[in-house]
Amino acid sequence: MNGLQCPRLLWFANKKQLPEISLFDEHKFSQGHDFEEHVKKLHPNSVDLNGLGFKENLDKTKEAIEQNQTIFEAGFMTNNLFVRSDLIIPTDNGWDLYEIKSTTKSKPQHIPDLAFQKYVLEKAGLKVNKSFLIHLNNEYIKNGEINPEKLTIQEEVTDQVNTITDIEEHIPKFREIMDLPEYNEMPISQMCNKPYECPLKKKCWGTLPENNVLQLTNWRVYWKLLGEGIEDIKDIPEGTDLKPRDEIIIESLEHNPYISKEHIKHFLLSLHYPLYHFDFETFDTAVPIYDKSRPYQKMPFQYSLHIEQEDGSTQHKEFLSEGGDPRPALLKQMKGDLEGTGDIIVYNKSFEISVMKKLAEDFPEHNDWLQDAITRIVDLADPFRAFYYYNNSQKGSYSIKKVLPAVTGKSYSELEINNGADASMLYFYSHIRPKLDNREEIRANLYRYCGLDTEGMVWILAELKKITE
Ligand code: SF4
Repeated sequence: MNGLQCPRLLWFANKKQLPEISLFDEHKFSQGHDFEEHVKKLHPNSVDLNGLGFKENLDKTKEAIEQNQTIFEAGFMTNNLFVRSDLIIPTDNGWDLYEIKSTTKSKPQHIPDLAFQKYVLEKAGLKVNKSFLIHLNNEYIKNGEINPEKLTIQEEVTDQVNTITDIEEHIPKFREIMDLPEYNEMPISQMCNKPYECPLKKKCWGTLPENNVLQLTNWRVYWKLLGEGIEDIKDIPEGTDLKPRDEIIIESLEHNPYISKEHIKHFLLSLHYPLYHFDFETFDTAVPIYDKSRPYQKMPFQYSLHIEQEDGSTQHKEFLSEGGDPRPALLKQMKGDLEGTGDIIVYNKSFEISVMKKLAEDFPEHNDWLQDAITRIVDLADPFRAFYYYNNSQKGSYSIKKVLPAVTGKSYSELEINNGADASMLYFYSHIRPKLDNREEIRANLYRYCGLDTEGMVWILAELKKITE
């Protein structure tokens, strides 16, 4: 799969030179593992070869195949090609091959993965009958014990797998790359994000010029430019078909920042005080942990709220769950904290709205005030998304992590926790599946981080006011 994405990625992966995996990556792997454990419950009479060493796994696989058993983690090796298949089941017409993915639907990249397994299994002498994907059912709502049958969806993908016929072609090419003493080419392309965000992106993309074409908003244009060898924004040829936003990005290299006072004024005048600057932090899991929740549902465990009066004075309120299902206590406090009629200011409203909608669905007794709160939401990202303000230091992004320092000069960089993914993981592994022992320190850092998100919005708004005075 690495080889299909990018030769450089294959080389680095083979040489075991990929960056260390983060707590977030570890979490993703453990989610996949949790899901597999539930799939195993669907096949109680199977043989599970997980955890065995290389040689033992191959030997035990042979034995189990001779006995016609359903096998999890069967290993096959032929012509120096090795696979471990999630699940194989004997049938009257050969073996059915299953790949277990903790995603909520089948994805195109799952097919070549299965096709390679099928190829190796067949070369090892097995007749493969049909191919399947087992993934999560995103409509499953936990109610008591997990029901593995309802949690899973099995999709037959035999036809799609059989359309892949170029495996033999890839093998010598990939082997050649893997054997190279070094790999210095930098084939940056759309494949850096497809099908997965490449772990080497920081390394490869870090070599691009400070103001590069990948910061433009029209990705069709920027990939085309990059394909033509144009990396630096200043080298974009005259006459290139650019969107007005991209013209602003280019213009900001000469005249920084770009400000459309009229539009910003209009946005500021539309606000209804007092303003409730609000932000959630959430975690999610593949297999739901709490009743009334689904696979990968965002579970809000923290919020910060700065209530700002028209005279600029603010009051801070916050919530951070102690553990367990955070939603009942969160809802109770949030209802009181958000009481009033002023606008609720968030940054990227689709996230907060989707969390609130799910809360209303799962706790219908809170539906009315939550629906009312949703109608009060105003997105502070809007003026930045629309490029009413753009500072060259944003490098094409309107995320609050870029906008806050650009507009106010303040930043998240000095905080122990400075992004949502870390906040989520540190909370999860100190409160839900505790394996970190500095819970109190993490709580203090979470308060600081989430608090800065909403205080930062107050500062941004104050600066926008100054700019338009
Ligand atoms: S970041 Fe892009 S170019 Fe670099 S290894 Fe990954 S996919 Fe290849």
